[in-house]
Amino acid sequence: MAGWRRVEHRRSGDWNVQPVSAASAVKDYSCPGCGLTVAQGTAHLVTWRADGVLGDASDLAARRHWHTHCWRIGA
Ligand SMILES: [Zn+2]
Repeated sequence: MAGWRRVEHRRSGDWNVQPVSAASAVKDYSCPGCGLTVAQGTAHLVTWRADGVLGDASDLAARRHWHTHCWRIGA
């Protein structure tokens, strides 16, 4: 299992944060924090809005993959 989803409260709103294990990271993603690649096989975080502004389906479609460090520093 990749870990527990949690909700974090930020100035930008409420965000769902779901850890993704290295084994589950089967694609490369672009990190919105630093602009670099989250390489396949790297444990990281996926986030999407939790305040329902656009509706759950839209929020899920717009989820982003972050390096764990980049999300933590709030980039
Ligand atoms: Zn990053």
